Amino acid sequence: MNRCAVCGGRVQSAERIATEHRAVRYEFCSDEHRAEFEAMPEVFATGPP
Ligand SMILES: [Zn+2]
Repeated sequence: MNRCAVCGGRVQSAERIATEHRAVRYEFCSDEHRAEFEAMPEVFATGPP
């Protein structure tokens, strides 16, 4: 199951919204949350160290 990187909510697999940050793929529940992530990815990015 995929979770929104911003709010932790479920990502609807039918309408997948995703972006990449430092070669890590993040998915989002909505376009708004993707925009938030892209505005300040350091806040939300929780990739491997
Ligand atoms: Zn979200």
